[in-house]
Amino acid sequence: IGALGVALALTACGSSDDNASGGSSTAASKGKIGVILPDTKSSARWESSDRPALEKAFKDAGIPAVIDNAQGDATKMQTIADQMLTQGVTVLAIVNLDSDSGAAIEAKAKKQGVATIDYDRLTLGGSADYYVSFDNSKVGTLQGEALAKCLGDKPANIVYLNGSPTDNNATLFAAGAHKVLDAKTEYKQVAEQAVPKWDNLQAGTIFEQMFTQQKGKIDGVLAANDGLGNAAIAILKKNHLEGKVPVTGQDATVQGLQNVLDGSQCMTVYKSAKEEVGALADLAIAITKGQKGTTTGTVHDDTGNRDVPSVLLDPKSITADSVKDVVSDGGASAAEVCTGAY
Ligand code: BGC
Repeated sequence: IGALGVALALTACGSSDDNASGGSSTAASKGKIGVILPDTKSSARWESSDRPALEKAFKDAGIPAVIDNAQGDATKMQTIADQMLTQGVTVLAIVNLDSDSGAAIEAKAKKQGVATIDYDRLTLGGSADYYVSFDNSKVGTLQGEALAKCLGDKPANIVYLNGSPTDNNATLFAAGAHKVLDAKTEYKQVAEQAVPKWDNLQAGTIFEQMFTQQKGKIDGVLAANDGLGNAAIAILKKNHLEGKVPVTGQDATVQGLQNVLDGSQCMTVYKSAKEEVGALADLAIAITKGQKGTTTGTVHDDTGNRDVPSVLLDPKSITADSVKDVVSDGGASAAEVCTGAY
């Protein structure tokens, strides 16, 4: 095909694939971002909301991006990070699976002069240049407040299904919820357990054990996200108690929104992927241009004893009458949510 043909073919390949690892001069001058999502099982959000929002944001900004998922495996996340560094990413954003493995990835990137961003979860003892998330204590506060509203002022036995013990967010969610619910003397906390890796299957087992131990006398469930909430709802259904025992959630997943609409779930928390990804993209672009990114403040990392420049966004509490707000913001489509009898 001759030299010209080869040149044309190369140009076509280079320009048609954002994910190509080739170091075209445009990509090099603009930088390249790598994002590693944590898993596919702890929440539907990572693949169904974050990934498409990330793809769109970087495409719109004209920045080459590689997005991958560690499938819940910290060793795999390190391998992906190494590959991304080899591919020449200039900014690496991770949702850590635990702080230690996250910190190791960030230290290695830093050594190679690659900027890092903690996406959604703060890496304790890490070295990220920025942290982008929502106000996670407020997420817990919104869950606690909504549960109290669903329960009313009468005495109630409450159980907590918290997120992964290795996720700093889970600590913040639980603390925020406790602040609200512990202050209500009519409520009694009868059980509390963290769910390893936010595993929904385990959450069902844990909740069923709680239910048996309490002889079914559970009046409210503070579940940290929609997946954990749905696991509790399945057990409640088996005992014909769905809709009678309020359950909280988070992420405004399709399943969560449907549960809210059919009354089996008291609320969910909407954290707009568009907003969170937008903040990440803005910071990545600023880093690439050698500028300082715009932040809303700092978050203190006790382990690393440092203040991390951060963007913290505002989470929204969603009940049956505000599900439409999630749809109108583009967080879910009416078609996918409204498949039931709503
Ligand atoms: C995120 C939640 C998510 C959970 C499980 C947390 O760090 O903030 O939105 O539900 O991880 O993936």
